[in-house]
Amino acid sequence: MLSYFPYFYEDELLYSAIARYHVHVGNIKLTHTLQDLYGKKYGRAIPDLASQLNQLSNRLKKFEAPSTDEMIDKHTMYFYYTNFVSNSIKNEVRHLMKSGGDLGKAYRILGLLSNKIKETSHFKFCPECLTEDLDKYGETYWRLSHQLPTSFVCLKHKHQVLLFSRVPYRKGSRTKYVAASEGNCYFLQDKCYDIIYSNKEILTLITEEGVKLAKRQYSWDIANLHKTYRFMLSKRGYLTAQGFVNQTKLGRNLIRYYGDELLKYLNCEVKPGDASCWLRLLTSKHRAIFHPLKHILLLVFLQESVDSIKENENKSFFAFGEGPYPCLNPVAEHYGQRLIEDVQIKRDENTGNPRGLFVCEKCGFSYSRIGPDKDINDQFRYNKVIEYGPVWKEKLNYFINNENLSKKETARRLNVSIETVRRYLNGFEKQPKKEAPTIKKLDELKKRWLNLVEQYPNYSQNQLRELDKGLYTLLYYYAKEWLQQNSPKGKTYHNGNKRFNWEERDKQVLPLIKKAIEKILNEEKPVRVTLYRIAQEAGISELKSKLEKMPETKQYILSKLESVEQFQLRRAKWAIEMIKKQGMHVSKSKVMEMANLHKASIETMSKIDKLIESYNC
Ligand SMILES: [Zn+2]
Ligand SMILES: [Zn+2]
Repeated sequence: MLSYFPYFYEDELLYSAIARYHVHVGNIKLTHTLQDLYGKKYGRAIPDLASQLNQLSNRLKKFEAPSTDEMIDKHTMYFYYTNFVSNSIKNEVRHLMKSGGDLGKAYRILGLLSNKIKETSHFKFCPECLTEDLDKYGETYWRLSHQLPTSFVCLKHKHQVLLFSRVPYRKGSRTKYVAASEGNCYFLQDKCYDIIYSNKEILTLITEEGVKLAKRQYSWDIANLHKTYRFMLSKRGYLTAQGFVNQTKLGRNLIRYYGDELLKYLNCEVKPGDASCWLRLLTSKHRAIFHPLKHILLLVFLQESVDSIKENENKSFFAFGEGPYPCLNPVAEHYGQRLIEDVQIKRDENTGNPRGLFVCEKCGFSYSRIGPDKDINDQFRYNKVIEYGPVWKEKLNYFINNENLSKKETARRLNVSIETVRRYLNGFEKQPKKEAPTIKKLDELKKRWLNLVEQYPNYSQNQLRELDKGLYTLLYYYAKEWLQQNSPKGKTYHNGNKRFNWEERDKQVLPLIKKAIEKILNEEKPVRVTLYRIAQEAGISELKSKLEKMPETKQYILSKLESVEQFQLRRAKWAIEMIKKQGMHVSKSKVMEMANLHKASIETMSKIDKLIESYNC
């Protein structure tokens, strides 16, 4: 029958209260204490968590002791270890602590058995807290916030480094509760104090974060924590325009911030080139559980905090948000609909910011925007139209020729300047670049034209123009006189009678297309096979609008176009090959990171899982 139990002190470990009970009641053997508290003679002394709390709290009821949940929350490291894990693990650990279940399982599912973070060898204490306690209570106790693996200083006495007592922290399987006392809390020089003293400022920040973590339950979106971290990383410039973490830069700067020596002391060395480095894994999509220390190291380095995680959640770290993106063709019926699957991102030379190119494959309208976007509304804004496309041009034609609208009114309806309307009416279907081509470039264009003339000696200028309108337009614009002199003469007027030979053109274009697709598929880093890309690669700007007239080419292209899923799978294969080439183990997180597969659907992911499996066996 339990007749007494000491009050819990503020921030006292449950272990400490039990140890004080043992001293206060004058039990000689620890088995007596266990018999008093748990009704059995055996049990392990657990400094950080606890077990069989239902049993204990039943016996403590009459002493106004804290409830079971209160004991877990305020007098163990439960919050400290569970804030970064899923709700199901949180619940399971709590259940194991209340019941007499296997606590080893709790340590295992919290990832504490597999990480290399070393625990303190002895209970820690602050000599100033000790003096104050003795004055105030006539005894002292083990403080929760001093024993955390990330605690190095006393936050109450900020200049005071925590010292090691003579009481071992975890004593194997032996049952031993030792209360803190003047007799076992005294200073002995230890070589690790040097490193703690010389890094006191940074270690104070780390201690603060750890203590916050231990004091309450945070409700973070744990499944998407890597995205939250990416957003934080993007704010500090550690994300490339494509949304990849610049691991080399991140690793290098984090090492510079903490110093090699300290990271080594904490057993958190960073190896930027190593695919299994904790920092790389922590900032990728992963299922692993990381020790709170690692989360804290990243947060402190990024000048963030466990308190700022929430406000960084659900923010997009992609420069242009997540696709698909809207078509912004003002005259398309599908205006505003999210039809553009992918954005091609390059770095803008003037601003250094990412510049996205958005191409609607349905209407040919394409636009570019300088990022990064500030919010989702930016997705409906563009800096420049790159190509108006056939739908827009038809509409322009319709307004002018069928509705007989003025150029001004047409411009208003198309939401463009009157200049743009004039330019397109003059036959410049493709807007030439603002600056004139360089002489070298112009020479190249001329050469291409002369090649065409040579290749098709019987063609008129108009027929040649049909072959490569882009080329013709540029030359017409910048070298009109030269073009007239170097085009077949006197045949132009036949054009009306002569039908353009599309059958022949189909046959000529097909090999160019095959070559272009092959080139796209052999890019060092995978590029999606789209009509736009093919046209660009083959240098046939009118490919899309003339595709109907070239059935063989069309059929071939349709068989080669890649869906988003197909492209994701190809990227996954590519990443697997790359990882294998580097001689590393092919893990899912590595493949996801390298191939940027964070947007892949569940079905695609399961296909990728299978792919990885087949590569690993
Ligand atoms: Zn203190
Ligand atoms: Zn469109």
